[in-house]
Amino acid sequence: MTISISKPFEQSCPACGGRVYGSVWFIIARHEQPLAWAQCLKDELNQLSCSHGHVQRIVVPTLLYDRDTGKIIVVTTAFEAANREMGGLMPAFRESSGLLGDEVHCIERHEVRSALQKLEVARAIGRPEFAKLGGRVFVTRPAPSYYFDVFEHPTPYTARQIAERCAVVLGERSLPAERLRDVKAQRALCLSLAPDARPGEIDEAISLFSEVIGLFKVAGQTFDWAATCRNMGTALLRRSNSASRTADAAAAIKLFSEAAPYLTKAYSLGDWSRLEVSWAEALIRVGSQPAAEEKLREVASLRDFPDAFDSISRAKKLLANQR
Ligand SMILES: [Zn+2]
Repeated sequence: MTISISKPFEQSCPACGGRVYGSVWFIIARHEQPLAWAQCLKDELNQLSCSHGHVQRIVVPTLLYDRDTGKIIVVTTAFEAANREMGGLMPAFRESSGLLGDEVHCIERHEVRSALQKLEVARAIGRPEFAKLGGRVFVTRPAPSYYFDVFEHPTPYTARQIAERCAVVLGERSLPAERLRDVKAQRALCLSLAPDARPGEIDEAISLFSEVIGLFKVAGQTFDWAATCRNMGTALLRRSNSASRTADAAAAIKLFSEAAPYLTKAYSLGDWSRLEVSWAEALIRVGSQPAAEEKLREVASLRDFPDAFDSISRAKKLLANQR
């Protein structure tokens, strides 16, 4: 299985109406696709042109992998999108490479060239650890997308360790309000994801989520608010499954429907599909199988877009269980 992933792309040229087509890269492994890698070095990543030479940049998140140094770089479409775009690309990378990829550098498109140049120097002297690629470094195990900068060093990996680290940070009480809110959200997320979380910890996660949702509402950050609603719904669903509480599943459904107008398909396929799959699970819990299957079928019918990779396979599995 090759690691690199590209998709055919076609549109009409805005300048002359001619046909623009070619391959758009989502994952480029240097040893497999030296030409695509060389294009990145020339700052021509995912650049296509029509027969008249009008050049267009196709803007999608792209993961760059250098096997020799083990470096993983995600080129984000926008800084604010880094977290979720990386969460979308990493499962596809893990599937195709068989590697975990614990540490990821997230950079913006204008930084690609200088990052890859630094990597070339580090390769040339055989010291990958010297490659300071810039951007933001994420630790991606066990679940994707934990902001590295919550921690002072990159060793704590598991959801439990991160949750504990957050508790220490929260105990310091000298954080600005916004940061305090983010660390609370992070602890809630890690507790709700930890495979060995105890019932009391899921309860704590739910109450932290609830507090953070209130704070986001005041600040008016609609996307983050909606994503937190979804995460809280997923935690409620977990409690509902372990304690046979249908009231929790019903509360989750309410949260999912509130979040839905902000986590749309157009905004982000990954966020939308994660919401839909959790929503379907909650519907199954309360006995609304037809509505659940409708949601699962819609997600399962998506093409394998990296950002929605996890949700698509989960939807397919759940649909198979329903039959
Ligand atoms: Zn043209």
